[in-house]
Amino acid sequence: MSKYPKSVVLLALAMTAGSLPVAAAPAATADLVLINGKVITVDKAFAVKSAVAVKDGRIVAVGGKEIGRKWKAARTIDLKGRTLMPGFIDAHLHLKGVSHRSIEPDKARSITELGAMVAAKARELGPGEWVAGSGWDEALLAEKRNPTRADLDAIAPDNPVVLVRAGAHSAVGNSLALKLAGIDAATPDPDGGLIERGADGVPNGMIRERTDLLLRLVPADSAEQMRPSYVRALKDLLALGITSFMEAWTTIDDEPVERGGLAGGGGNAVRGHTFRQLRTIYDQQGEDLPRATLYIMYPGAERLKKFPHHTGFGDDRLKLGPIGESAYDGGFTGPTARTSKDYKGQPGFRGTTFMTEHALQEMVDTSARLGWQLGIHAIGDEAIDTVASAYHRTLSARPKADHRWFLSHFTMLPTEQTMRTMAADGIWTTAQPNFTYNLEGRYLQVLDGERLDRINPVATPISYGVNVVMSSDNLPIGPMVGLYAAVTRKGMAGHQFAKAEAITREEAIRLYTAKAAALTWDEARKGSIEPGKFADFIVLDRDPLTVPAEQLLQTRVDLTFVGGKLVWDRQAN
Ligand SMILES: [Zn+2]
Repeated sequence: MSKYPKSVVLLALAMTAGSLPVAAAPAATADLVLINGKVITVDKAFAVKSAVAVKDGRIVAVGGKEIGRKWKAARTIDLKGRTLMPGFIDAHLHLKGVSHRSIEPDKARSITELGAMVAAKARELGPGEWVAGSGWDEALLAEKRNPTRADLDAIAPDNPVVLVRAGAHSAVGNSLALKLAGIDAATPDPDGGLIERGADGVPNGMIRERTDLLLRLVPADSAEQMRPSYVRALKDLLALGITSFMEAWTTIDDEPVERGGLAGGGGNAVRGHTFRQLRTIYDQQGEDLPRATLYIMYPGAERLKKFPHHTGFGDDRLKLGPIGESAYDGGFTGPTARTSKDYKGQPGFRGTTFMTEHALQEMVDTSARLGWQLGIHAIGDEAIDTVASAYHRTLSARPKADHRWFLSHFTMLPTEQTMRTMAADGIWTTAQPNFTYNLEGRYLQVLDGERLDRINPVATPISYGVNVVMSSDNLPIGPMVGLYAAVTRKGMAGHQFAKAEAITREEAIRLYTAKAAALTWDEARKGSIEPGKFADFIVLDRDPLTVPAEQLLQTRVDLTFVGGKLVWDRQAN
């Protein structure tokens, strides 16, 4: 209670009202107001403001001090100078569901640690049970080498073990796993893959590209068993400041057969997760998750014709994106990306293609005819030339307005002619500048000369008029690594790749927010802090426009809002 007599208080109120005529106007009501921040709007002018008001899940006002006076809200957050910006939109990542058989090799920092995880899981499951997991990366392991069959035999001789490398292009198995797969010294390399061998010709456990030879033997979890791990993976994105993403590896395998599903079901960890499974998760708790757009793996013409939906089907929480990923070539971790020149020290070897040009053209034609956007995986320069040509042939035969087709990855600069064709055809790319950071060692091993300068280009394709957006492809998912690599072009050990491909911080942020929104036709709904757009934004612990570049890697997300709802709070975690 006031310590002053009531009459004095009333007099003071009357004087205040009289001296501030604006206050007489009724305040507008909002659900949430955030004030005293540095609001990076990513609008056309890249304007910086200080306050935002939110109502019914959308931004209703952006501005300065007047916002706090004009808008009365149930909740007001004083940002105390912190930076608020649109949530990141990652245009190409892979959700990982985790089987109860799985360890988390991506968290291991040495082969010893990896071994301890395998040993613990083998004990938990009992002898004979498969132990699996994916995401190890030799660059992050203290020993700086791949784990081998012998490493795993020493730890878990009585359990078959298979561990997939980050990027999913190779896997290592132990002796029991190889035995169950029927792989021994006499086994020839399979189509499209490689069984690595020691000097004595005996397999060392590493299988390149045809990881399915081992993975298909691992018993699948049911959709229900997998669901909690998907929800956790989705919430992990919010902690990284990702409010929308495009999932690059979804299938329609578990649809009814008459709607394009796979005979015999599907939906296990080997084939990736399904549209139906994610739809179930989003129906239950979509409001607490990042907004999702799904790439659908090409299931073949017959099945795709039976599937009743195409690009755009769904809602603001979960919808269908392109027929995409469906790789034309491999990647540089193998290396299996299809390049125009031989790999360093591997005369005659230019990588792999996973389908004929005829099959590629059929996939593009069929998908286009059925109303799908396209986003095929092409990493090596020759693969990019080939896929861009296939797009060009289909678009020449059946012109399509505002198609927003894209190449996933676009990791090595193709010919100038290809970039001109792509620009003329309106083809986009989902680039991963973060590969430069994480795959630095790999690139230096397998490429040389000017080809090292052609890796993960961003500035050059833009200069040709190609639309580029940013994404992570899980190497790693963190957008801050993407920003860092896009502006510095540096690897984790400090090697700097062609500086000419660097872009400014403002550009990098735009490609990871407003520009990325347009790849899913959402430019009017998200990607910037402007009235009318979804209240999808993040609050950071430092300012990505001004911190020293190295500090971008340490920048943390304090708060994440999706549709105006607080869905991540670092303080509470
Ligand atoms: Zn890919």
